[in-house]
Amino acid sequence: MKTLITNAYVLDMVGDFANIEKKDILINDNIIEKIEKDIDKNTIVDQRINAKNMLIMPGLINTHTHLAMSIFRGYKTDKKLMDWLENAIFPVEDKLEPEDIYWNSYLSCLEMIKSGTTTCNDMYFGMDKTIEAIKATGLRAIVAWSIKDDSIKDKIEKTREYAKIYNNDKNSKIKIFVSADAPYTCNPDTIKLCVDLAKELNTGLHIHLAQTIDEESKIKTRYNKRSTEYLSDLDVFDVPVVLAHGIYVSDSDIEILKNIQGGISHNPISDCKLSSRNL
Ligand SMILES: [Zn+2]
Repeated sequence: MKTLITNAYVLDMVGDFANIEKKDILINDNIIEKIEKDIDKNTIVDQRINAKNMLIMPGLINTHTHLAMSIFRGYKTDKKLMDWLENAIFPVEDKLEPEDIYWNSYLSCLEMIKSGTTTCNDMYFGMDKTIEAIKATGLRAIVAWSIKDDSIKDKIEKTREYAKIYNNDKNSKIKIFVSADAPYTCNPDTIKLCVDLAKELNTGLHIHLAQTIDEESKIKTRYNKRSTEYLSDLDVFDVPVVLAHGIYVSDSDIEILKNIQGGISHNPISDCKLSSRNL
């Protein structure tokens, strides 16, 4: 099916600067064939869209999500993160059924589509159902089973099984990452297993980092180092990484993080809600 979109303001991200110009776009099935000024109006197409006064831009990317948690929004809030997780969220997470994971993820996908987000980077559990929901909505996603000390074997097997299916399919909109949940929920052996798995599968790793001051104190007490140093010493930065939050990083941490492959996922709404570092 051929579609011609005319009169749009097109924002492209070619080069270092964003450019906005009035252009037409010719789409053949799912492939953009041309983005040019004044594409021949006599081109035979199945559908014409006059996008006068509209902006066409690349889809937004949400680099850190837990899609299946949408149902918990607003549940027992006004607590610090650890209190909220341990006393509010973990007990109800245990009650989630696969069908809940599907519909919660589906809701999050619809909300992303509404805001122009076309790709997300998700980590949680029960990801088989989240993948089904993402596929049903047509979004792109990087998906990871969040591995903690108490849930290693099944999640490693699932990661391996799904990576073989999706990461070898160049047309798939789903790709599989490895996820170690966080420095404070993963001991050194668990982190090392995750790094080795990411290397084995030739993929990246998604992990929370320095989200709260309490987390930094926990790591300092356990290992006498900062969480960025903890991950660095366990070779986490040998693989491409997405580090979620990264709020409590020091100048010396930034020196380490300057050289990693990947980067920090900034989550301003979550961090503002938690009043992290006076945000
Ligand atoms: Zn998170």
